[in-house]
Amino acid sequence: MRSELYIDGKWRPSSDGRTFDVVNPATEEVIHRIAAATAEDVDVAVKAARRAFDRDGWPKLSGAQRARYLRAIAEGIRARQAEIARLEVIDNGKPLPEADWDVADAAGCFDFYAGLAEQLDNSPEEPIALPDARFTSKAVKEPIGVAGAIIPWNYPLLMAAWKVAPALAAGCTVVLKPAEVTSLTALELAAIADDVGLPAGVLNVVTGAGAVAGQAIIDHRQVDKLAFTGSGPVGSKIMAAAARDIKRISLELGGKSPFVVFDDADIDEAVEWIMFGIFWNQGQVCSATSRVLVQEGNYDRLLSRLVEETKKIRIGNGLEDGVLLGPLVSKRQHQQVVTAIEAAKAAGATVACGGKRPKGFETGYYLEPTVLTDVPLESDAWREEIFGPVVSIRSFSTEEEAIELANDSRFGLAAAVMSRDDRRAERVAAAFRAGIVWINCSQPTFTEAPWGGYKESGIGRELGRWGLDNYLETKQITRFATGEKWGWYIK
Ligand code: NAP
Ligand code: MG
Repeated sequence: MRSELYIDGKWRPSSDGRTFDVVNPATEEVIHRIAAATAEDVDVAVKAARRAFDRDGWPKLSGAQRARYLRAIAEGIRARQAEIARLEVIDNGKPLPEADWDVADAAGCFDFYAGLAEQLDNSPEEPIALPDARFTSKAVKEPIGVAGAIIPWNYPLLMAAWKVAPALAAGCTVVLKPAEVTSLTALELAAIADDVGLPAGVLNVVTGAGAVAGQAIIDHRQVDKLAFTGSGPVGSKIMAAAARDIKRISLELGGKSPFVVFDDADIDEAVEWIMFGIFWNQGQVCSATSRVLVQEGNYDRLLSRLVEETKKIRIGNGLEDGVLLGPLVSKRQHQQVVTAIEAAKAAGATVACGGKRPKGFETGYYLEPTVLTDVPLESDAWREEIFGPVVSIRSFSTEEEAIELANDSRFGLAAAVMSRDDRRAERVAAAFRAGIVWINCSQPTFTEAPWGGYKESGIGRELGRWGLDNYLETKQITRFATGEKWGWYIK
């Protein structure tokens, strides 16, 4: 396990020597200590990224040359897949098969953006048809510059990949700050980048607190672009900080996503996807479908199947075979989710199952998977993100009512619909006010497809070619192409 900052191609302690604890959420043990970056450390990292961008030529390499580094990083991740997945489990708490999946996806993300980096060479210029034949014009894409990437703790390595891979592919250089509670695998990513010979300063990883290291990144004058995934309040701070010097931003801020199940849906299939939509990763998923709307003819049978299956979920340390629900990421997150459940009860909700620490788990941030019914429409439980294994379920009668309930939210990240009637599913998909829509499933995510939200769920799209555009500027180059005189002042 690495314990130092990775700045300008070197490992170093923080400038004041301070560290923070790494806690295994399954055991509550302190398993490691990592350097806590100061604003001074961030300044050194930003200046290294600046130099790598402005002078050392990272953006001047061809896309194919940058792609070679990205593919080597992908290979490096795959070569250490099992070991990195274990680190993710002892840091984040998620079950090992999920961590394995994340690590493979992170490697795939670097490969995908290697492909897009190569394509940048093949179609660099877009000719523009002008109405005046004396001029020709073309548009070219160029990297924005130094990107500050700030990521959450729910998919530590994968969120790093979603930002670092497209940024490097585009020709940007990066200062990455992982979440304090899950910093181990971001440092491994730095070690892999170092092993493959990524030039110094192209990727810098500064571990530490959001209020110190994160704040120093968003306030830094020499950072051109901020890429953030996390909570709404921090997203607002980032947008405000970016406003001062017009930094480019992309924000992915979570939601309260609906899952609409019609009467013609198969009950067991619906229950499977409802569970996957809210219990996967302990429900700590920005796109989790945490508001389930079930058409009244199916409601009673579906609810009882959901409760029956939810009670069977095997809880435990993510390293144990067969475990499907690990601990929440931190004591703080556990407390927040428990508090949200208590508030839901106080507002009139009924706990159909779960809602408390599971028996036999006195240590570790464990919580039973929870199904809430009778959740009042105006309560926080229905409206605010809980970010834990807690689903609220209610019935509806008509398609119009379902759409109205689904869209009645300040968020718009994801939405799901289940029906055997394809025309109805397409109609509802079109009516959802959300950036990610699933039909007959919930959560499957592909590097190729755009990811991001409507409304307060964020700005911009990650992944796919949209994710590359996040790190590119567009420049027009217009030429006066004839030998003629312009003749405005000088006839
Ligand atoms: P958060 O506070 O928004 O943290 C996200 C990242 O921002 C972390 O790296 C954090 O650092 C950093 N940060 C915090 N304050 C900052 C500041 N002033 N300037 C720059 N960076 C700053 O989210 P959280 O506390 O981890 O989780 C709170 C809630 O956010 C969750 O309950 C959930 O609702 C939501 N969330 C959403 C997503 C998503 O995928 N959209 C992911 C995680 C959480 P440190 O944490 O190291 O201090
Ligand atoms: Mg941890």
